[in-house]
Amino acid sequence: AHEKIFELATTDGLTGLANHRTFQHAFDNMLHRATRQSTPLTMVLCDLDFFKKINDSFGHPFGDVVLQEVPKVLAGSIRNVDLAARYGGEEFALLLEDSNINGARKQVERVRRAISGLEFRHSGNIIKISMSFGLASFPEDGKSKDDLIKKADQALYHAKARGRNRSVCWCDTQQAE
Ligand code: GH3
Ligand code: MG
Ligand code: MG
Repeated sequence: AHEKIFELATTDGLTGLANHRTFQHAFDNMLHRATRQSTPLTMVLCDLDFFKKINDSFGHPFGDVVLQEVPKVLAGSIRNVDLAARYGGEEFALLLEDSNINGARKQVERVRRAISGLEFRHSGNIIKISMSFGLASFPEDGKSKDDLIKKADQALYHAKARGRNRSVCWCDTQQAE
C-alpha cells in the first residue's frame, strides 16, 4: 500500500513517467551532484507539434494514446541515471546526467527521428507526429535550475519558430542574435 501511494505521488497516471514534482526534486539533486563533481548535465524540454490539431482531428482519446506511446520512446532512449518526466500536458522533460551539449544533441536527434518515424492507426488513416526540443546545459548555459529551465524553454520556442520537428540548443539561439 505504501509503495502504491508513493507511486501515485511521484508518477504521472497517464504515461507512468515521473511527474512535475519528481522532476523538480531530481533536477535539484542532479544539479548538486554535477556542481560538486564538476560534471555536465543537460536539460531537454520536449513538446509535441500541433498536438491540439491531433486532438481536434482524431479525438482526445486518440491524443491520449499518442501521449502514452511517445514516453516509451523517451524512456527507452535514456540511461538509468537519467530522468524522463511529464512536464505538463503534452510537454516532457529529460535530464541527461554527465552529458554535455554535444552528446545530448546527438541523443536528442535520435529521439526526434524515432518519434517522427512512429505511425499511428486511426479509422483507416496512418497518422504521423513530430516533436520539438529545446536544450540547455550546465554549466555553460546556466548554473541554476531556474536559469536552465528558462533557457531550455527559450530554445524550444526557437525550435517551434524555425518550423518544428527539430532540436535547438540555447547556445545556438545566441549565435543567431
Ligand atoms: P505547438 O506545435 O505550438 O506546440 O502546438 P500545439 O497544438 O501542440 O500547442 P498547444 O499548447 O496549443 O496545444 C497543446 C494541446 O495539448 C492542448 C491540449 O488540449 C492538449 N493536451 C494537454 N494535455 C492533454 C492530455 O492529457 N490528453 C490529450 N489528449 N490532450 C492533451
Ligand atoms: Mg505542443
Ligand atoms: Mg505545449
